[in-house]
Amino acid sequence: MLTQLLPISAWSKQLNDEHLFIAGPCSAESRTQMLETAHLIRNIPAIRAFRAGIWKPRTRPGSFEGIGEKGLEWLREVKQETGLLTATEVAYPDHVEKCLQYDVDILWIGARTTGNPFSVQEIAEALRGSDKIILVKNPTNPDLDLWIGAIERFANTGITKLGAIHRGFYPFEKTRLRNIPKWELVIELKRLYPNLPIIGDPSHIAGSPDFIEEISQKALDLNYNGLMIESHITPKLAKSDAAQQVTPAWLANMLERLQIRTEISDNPIIIDTLEQFRQQIDSIDHQLIELLAQRCDISRKIGNYKHEHNLSIFQLRRWENIIQSRIKHGKELNLPEEHLSKLLQTIHKMSIQLQSSGDN
Ligand code: PEP
Ligand code: MN
Repeated sequence: MLTQLLPISAWSKQLNDEHLFIAGPCSAESRTQMLETAHLIRNIPAIRAFRAGIWKPRTRPGSFEGIGEKGLEWLREVKQETGLLTATEVAYPDHVEKCLQYDVDILWIGARTTGNPFSVQEIAEALRGSDKIILVKNPTNPDLDLWIGAIERFANTGITKLGAIHRGFYPFEKTRLRNIPKWELVIELKRLYPNLPIIGDPSHIAGSPDFIEEISQKALDLNYNGLMIESHITPKLAKSDAAQQVTPAWLANMLERLQIRTEISDNPIIIDTLEQFRQQIDSIDHQLIELLAQRCDISRKIGNYKHEHNLSIFQLRRWENIIQSRIKHGKELNLPEEHLSKLLQTIHKMSIQLQSSGDN
């Protein structure tokens, strides 16, 4: 069934290439917030659709759970006033019915719902015969089959405007990102279903504006078909996901810097191989940094020891020895002397500073 999918350019007359950029607040909060944000977003040329959560699935009860049906009226006004397509999350058949009634263009399935095949099947049944655009977020746990299963349930009820949204996976350890991307799962999804459009959700992966650009560029480098980014007129005041929302002006600037590298191969095998190399590099860098941190710890200990025994910190003979022996070792391993020597100078400088920074 996944062979009958339509490309993005055939999803709507507003979409004329194979990319779809969606932006808007995490949640609909008020009519003014919706309309003001939408008018600013409409001026960003790449953006064709406006998102806003009307019913919010929250990890804990008591957080803002969405504005409900009146948000759909505001979404309808957004569409009438700006011409943008509109998008919201559905979790129940009843949500689907309301969205059909208010003519929302794009319905997405949230990460928590994708993980539940009963709910997905019910939503898919409610959509039977409709020609809405359906985007299925990945489940919170990195289970590719569960994600594919949800996508198949929509394809099986005749949905042809179907895509996936990659929003990252729940991190079991603390990471700098809110959700771990696990890009390799998406690469595998693309390899299995090359005609399934994939939209990146850098906001939920990053969890903070600090990493949104990096994640967005990475998604485009992997030939994603677009992005969905949370944008709010006053992010700090947002009732949900305040930490990761950006203003429309911030978004416009970033989108201008992003590059869609069409010269990058769309051959999944080449993308996959490159990704494997990059993962090796990531792992090695990680180890390099840990080793460097261990080296610094020892430098601090040496500093204290020299201090206790009244020895000078900089000992020329020792430094000459380090340089010579390391360069010789590096040469044996084909490392260019010029760069290695600079690296060693920097490491030595760091070590001297740590040794002399007093009581370590
Ligand atoms: C959202 O898009 O605001 C949202 C709730 O996302 P997710 O289902 O990915 O957590
Ligand atoms: Mn959100």
